[in-house]
Amino acid sequence: MAVQQNKVTRSRRNKRRSHDALVAGNPNECTNCGELKRPHHVCPSCGHYADREVVATVDDVDLDEDAA
Ligand SMILES: [Zn+2]
Repeated sequence: MAVQQNKVTRSRRNKRRSHDALVAGNPNECTNCGELKRPHHVCPSCGHYADREVVATVDDVDLDEDAA
């Protein structure tokens, strides 16, 4: 088992952890559908980016449909 050579003081440990905090996201409202989306990303709910559709979305997928 590895054994540390020197004690890490509370100060040094806490200084290391000072960069560990998670930062909350900054979502924008989609200009097309109003859903919250990540900035500079295609809207996952309607497939729009910069007021035009770039990813086609399917409203209803029928999994029972026979694919011949
Ligand atoms: Zn949208």
